Amino acid sequence: MSSDTLVDFDEVLTRYEPVIGLETHVELGTASKMFCGCSTTFGAEPNTQTCPVCLGLPGSLPVANAAAIESTIRIGLALGCRIATWCRFARKNYFYPDIPKGFQTSQYDEPLCTAGHLDVEVDGETYRVEIERVHLEEDTGKNLHVGGATGRIHGADHSLVDYNRAGIPLVEIVTRPIPGTGAKAPEVAKAYVTELREILLALGVSEVRMEQGNLRSDVNTSLAPIGSLEWGIRTETKNVNSLRSVERSVRYEMRRQAAVLDAGERILQETRHFHEDTGSTSAGRSKEEATDYRYFPEPDLVPIAPDEEWVEKLAAALPELPAARRARLSEEWGISPTEMAWLVNAGAVGLVSETVAAGAPPADARKWWLGELARRANDAGVDLAGLAVTPQQVAELVGLVAAGTINDQLARQVLDGVLAGEGDPAAVVESRGLAVMGESDELVAAVDAAIEGNPDVAEKVRGGKVQAIGALVGAVMKTTRGKADAATVKRMLEERLLS
Ligand SMILES: [Zn+2]
Repeated sequence: MSSDTLVDFDEVLTRYEPVIGLETHVELGTASKMFCGCSTTFGAEPNTQTCPVCLGLPGSLPVANAAAIESTIRIGLALGCRIATWCRFARKNYFYPDIPKGFQTSQYDEPLCTAGHLDVEVDGETYRVEIERVHLEEDTGKNLHVGGATGRIHGADHSLVDYNRAGIPLVEIVTRPIPGTGAKAPEVAKAYVTELREILLALGVSEVRMEQGNLRSDVNTSLAPIGSLEWGIRTETKNVNSLRSVERSVRYEMRRQAAVLDAGERILQETRHFHEDTGSTSAGRSKEEATDYRYFPEPDLVPIAPDEEWVEKLAAALPELPAARRARLSEEWGISPTEMAWLVNAGAVGLVSETVAAGAPPADARKWWLGELARRANDAGVDLAGLAVTPQQVAELVGLVAAGTINDQLARQVLDGVLAGEGDPAAVVESRGLAVMGESDELVAAVDAAIEGNPDVAEKVRGGKVQAIGALVGAVMKTTRGKADAATVKRMLEERLLS
């Protein structure tokens, strides 16, 4: 548990202005590593995807992965960056067990892409996030601390290292400091990572699964007194790996830093860890003395010099980017920017789009994903995409309702079956016997029984209190367990009582 003193969020904003900044690491989805031919498949047995190059054995020589360079240039182009015509890799020297070479091959003063931007929208307002640089480097191995309660090195009995991840191509996207977001700072941070993730998905360069660490953000936060000409000292919350946590970490740091500043103390420039369970951060490494990594140009790799024609070709072949796609879909579906924002926030744009592609009218596709399915995802504590139902199945469900085979109420029961893995909607309708009853003998009998069982209600209807018929419809729906079509039942009752 954290013992930090916190200032109420709204109160923070009466005295301080936040500045945020984000450094986001993206593991590229290339088949092989950055400087060797080792596989990058996630989840393999530890240390089975290694070779002399990614283990840093003496005498081994790296060769740069062309697909990774291409992906990085495409990311840069999608973010409106300038692409370097000539740049080099550099050695970032430091020792840590997960970095077998004793240095990380990265880029330093010559990044591949510079000076871009990304516009993000929060509550109808657009914020421009300036991108300082996009560079290419390699991932480190993964330490596993065994025996402690927290999984951290403190309290552990021993530590293991898995080098499967060492050398996987990693793109780092660094924003310039983002001032002027005020109370929206936490949401702008989240919106930026969300939009960046959408772009990376559209480019197809990474699986961007945050829970697998494909995408992780270091979130910088600082506060300065309102009106101050200088920015405050920032902290860097490391490896935040969910969108929600990005927002929470900024919110927490703003509240914590305000309390420190209120007390007349100074903020320590340090890295901090974010804790999902408590939503708090705790101190990590102090950055008071800037680490000197003794960067120098990597002598074992040739410089990268993308020729202009290639870059132009890559630019021309970029896919439709998310912002343009949203504008187009809003128009096609006839919805407002606000309604589109709901879909974006629910992570439903792609799902609705695929449901429409599978034949459902846009309004129905939106209704199911934002209504019933959103509710179920929320209950289950998963994202919409994590539900065990495909857009094709939702389209099939919509089709069954449109054809009158099932009604909305039965459709919800059909969903139960689909989510329980019982097959496609039509199969669930069949196996669970959920089709709407036609004017069958069974339904006629249920209607007659409802009239006989409620003689007083029937008499009222006959006497002109037509709205009382609702009670009889309800009785029929109950005996048929919702499988009757209410409109049909009402018509049948009217035929018997009013004609
Ligand atoms: Zn290797």
